[in-house]
Amino acid sequence: MPTSYDVINPATEEIVKNVAHLDLAATDDAIARADKAFHTWRTIAPGERARLLRSFSHIVTEHREELAQLEITNSGHTRGNALWEADNVANTLMYYAAAPERLFGRQIPVPGGVDITFKEPLGVIGIIVPWNFPMPIAAWGFAPALAAGNTVVLKPAEYTPLTAIRLGELALLAGIPEGVFNVLPGKGSVVGNRFVTHPLVRKVVFTGSTAVGKQIMVGCADQVKRLTLELGGKSSNIIFADADIAKAAAAAPGAVFDNAGQDCCARSRILVQKSAFDTFMEHFEVAVKKFRCEDPNLATADMGPLISKKQFDAVESFLDEPIAFKGSAPTGPGYWMAPTVLLPKNTSARSWREEIFGPVVSVMTFDDEADAILMANDSEYGLSGSIWTRDIGRALRVSRGVDTGALSVNSNSSVRFWTPFGGFKQSGLGRELGPDALDSFTEVKNVFISND
Ligand code: NAP
Ligand code: MG
Repeated sequence: MPTSYDVINPATEEIVKNVAHLDLAATDDAIARADKAFHTWRTIAPGERARLLRSFSHIVTEHREELAQLEITNSGHTRGNALWEADNVANTLMYYAAAPERLFGRQIPVPGGVDITFKEPLGVIGIIVPWNFPMPIAAWGFAPALAAGNTVVLKPAEYTPLTAIRLGELALLAGIPEGVFNVLPGKGSVVGNRFVTHPLVRKVVFTGSTAVGKQIMVGCADQVKRLTLELGGKSSNIIFADADIAKAAAAAPGAVFDNAGQDCCARSRILVQKSAFDTFMEHFEVAVKKFRCEDPNLATADMGPLISKKQFDAVESFLDEPIAFKGSAPTGPGYWMAPTVLLPKNTSARSWREEIFGPVVSVMTFDDEADAILMANDSEYGLSGSIWTRDIGRALRVSRGVDTGALSVNSNSSVRFWTPFGGFKQSGLGRELGPDALDSFTEVKNVFISND
């Protein structure tokens, strides 16, 4: 039975649009079309595939304002973020547009002949996208997948399908052939799960909760299906007393409250060296109170609402711990929550251990370097994190000591399309982005040619 979903503007609670959901039969049809398209897409000359991806990138840039507006309305993202996200899609496409012409194999010295390797595409790739960053997370999957010669079926999150649907149309406008890039709005339990069970989907790229990621991993085992997982995080912002404390404190709200904290890289644990705690908290309070949670259409907005009532309730359940201070948020309709700073009693507090995925951060102190590393690593997650210190040796030692996939020193930026991104431990499996992403969308084929 086909169903549909009313997309809600989280800043106003108004219905934006009704989106039809694909049922199982329609999902199977789309997968069959993607499989058919694979057999031509993979044979298109590398230079032509590169040209089509550059054309897709240009078309996205031409529509950046429209895409950003859709994301503001659908997801409550701030105008600044939404424009960055549309540009990130264009940039990721442009970066991987250089790949088809550089998909090198190797020539390996062997006796009796010549040995060469090829990087062959896998086939249809199923990409399952969460609601927190609908555009970038989609592009980090589909851009390298298409560049390597695969075709794509992409399921946006039920809450946030609008930009993905538009990107599907823009791909066709750019000249990407029918069936190569397919956007399939629908339920995770129907469309997403079919990517796991359908034998013609050769790989699943999943970003979302650790709980669903584990189910998908179990499901993929049945067909030895390739899998990339980008899951949750509980990342630390580690601030040493020798750091530029004012700078670290001024940057700390953005490191956790950006996108209303709905970010798998959110630094939702702040670890401050004991001797710098009072100074840090003074500066941090000023910065949190300056962080503007307001109508996301405003150019001045630092943060918008949460995505849904369900997410609001889940985040609110963390607010029973001691509060140091709060920022402000609009009242009235919309899922608004003020940025909030907690002082958990100890490291077993829920706010210290669980991914909150909202504008809530916990602060604790540490004694020395070893203590900081132990506290940061006391988690089943390991996705990102920051280290603030002026001591370069310490920065290197702590970077090597913290078990996490993407660290930044004297900065809170974790994601760049030029560099690998992914998690240690239960934060995920595999890496996206960077120069090696093509390896996770290809199989190595070895061919020996005899001299005889
Ligand atoms: P989720 O359930 O893991 O959803 C992520 C995506 O997976 C959505 O597209 C979802 O579809 C789909 N999905 C759900 N169940 C599936 C299944 N059985 N098979 C295949 N696909 C399936 O995440 P959520 O419920 O939206 O959020 C819950 C929590 O997860 C958040 O509070 C946060 O802690 C975490 N999260 C992390 C990230 C991240 O970037 N790592 C992103 C989002 C959420 P539907 O939209 O139809 O459910
Ligand atoms: Mg869910």
